[in-house]
Amino acid sequence: MIREFHNKLVNREITATQLAQQYFDVIEKKDTEIGAYLTITKQLAFEQAKFVDEKIARGEEIGLMEGIPGAIKDMICVEGVRATAGSKILDNYIAPFDATVIRKLKENGAVILGKANQDEFAMGSSTETSAYQITKNPVDTSRVPGGSSGGSAAAVAADEAVWSLGTDTGGSIRQPASFCGVVGLKPTYGRVSRYGGIAMASSLDQIGPFAKTVEDAAIVLSAISGEDPMDATSAKSSDKKYEDFLTGDIKGKTIGIPKEYVENLEGEIKEIFEKSVEKFKALGAKVETVSLPHSQYALSVYYIIMTSEVSSNLAKFDGIKFGMRADDLSESKNELESNKKTNTLPKNLLETYLDTRKIGFGDEVKRRIMLGTYTLSAGYYDAYYLKAQKVRALIRRDFEQAYKKVDLIYCPTCPEVAFKFGEKTADPLKMYLSDIFTISVNLAGVPAISFPIGFCEVEGKKLPVGGQLIGKWFDEEGILNAAHTFEIN
Ligand code: GLN
Repeated sequence: MIREFHNKLVNREITATQLAQQYFDVIEKKDTEIGAYLTITKQLAFEQAKFVDEKIARGEEIGLMEGIPGAIKDMICVEGVRATAGSKILDNYIAPFDATVIRKLKENGAVILGKANQDEFAMGSSTETSAYQITKNPVDTSRVPGGSSGGSAAAVAADEAVWSLGTDTGGSIRQPASFCGVVGLKPTYGRVSRYGGIAMASSLDQIGPFAKTVEDAAIVLSAISGEDPMDATSAKSSDKKYEDFLTGDIKGKTIGIPKEYVENLEGEIKEIFEKSVEKFKALGAKVETVSLPHSQYALSVYYIIMTSEVSSNLAKFDGIKFGMRADDLSESKNELESNKKTNTLPKNLLETYLDTRKIGFGDEVKRRIMLGTYTLSAGYYDAYYLKAQKVRALIRRDFEQAYKKVDLIYCPTCPEVAFKFGEKTADPLKMYLSDIFTISVNLAGVPAISFPIGFCEVEGKKLPVGGQLIGKWFDEEGILNAAHTFEIN
């Protein structure tokens, strides 16, 4: 899609301003129902579009991202625009600077349409923990779009954006991509700068793209990736044009199927997955079974490491430094009154902290802060956090071992298709299991892409199923090319 729009812009069949307007028209028509966006940035979008149009009018060459409209997860800072991270605690927070990915997108001439809904602080798998609104899956509006980057996935699926950015700590790009039938890529840890991304769990978080096609995801990745002195974890890597690696040929590549991931697959997902494996074979890939034996501990390890990092990262939201403070929201007064406190305003600093966090954070965020504070506390640190770090090393080693034998690893993105609203909200553990195939990827730090491989027929609706290709560290081009080859054939 990006290339088509690019050609239209270059051939002056459409202006960037008209293209942005077209997308705002779709947003206006559809988003009351879908709820993908939290904030629309019309002024910013038209300023950027105008700049591109002037360049074209002067006869200057334009890059592939120039004038192409997209959406940004609300976890990522855009200067002068509200960034809530889906939380009430950042309700009034206006980002004072651009995240590195945003600076890069702006330099590449991309047009930003608005900020996308998400689970609160990226904690969730359905976007239902957003403090603001639900987002409906455009494929079937009785179902969730997945999460936590549900707004970003839905915006692309509903043609309310050409591309979008999400963040992925345990699957939050790949799982919603799978549920909404679009492409989602989690880059290698360190490939994309997180500077200006609101942190959830810093040793796991990565920013990455959503798009309708693998090529489009590659183009967006080219724009946002690269070393950044502002992010100490960003890797020394030369800038690449990932779209140039899409040869459409995977002959001779070896794809490993992790036996632990596929042995319990059931029903239509199993059939669709097996068919897709046959397709990879027909395209000339060799398929082998590999073992990732420590994956069985991935969920437990993730919920210790992630919650520990969450408890420390979210400590800064205290009513003093960022966002809301308990005593400046009339809503907070009501809440305190309804709690039958004698005084309606915090008396001192400690009460300000406590009241702000009590009112500002939702239940899922509080649950994780409590779990993480416990696992980091004296006496429990060795038993939980340290132990989890050791098992994490074993999970990473599983991947190292597997990649001695194979070039890529392939499994479904999720064990299920999009579920209905409310289906899992009562049982957090059920919700957590949605990420069973995506989490070990973040623990190991490898890149992975989710792309559509078929549809399950459920209640008369065709619900998308995603395949997940997992690459070696820094081999984004390998997974992109394999997914692209699958997609075009
Ligand atoms: N769904 C997972 C969780 O709730 C993953 C979140 C994410 O990747 N941001 O933690």
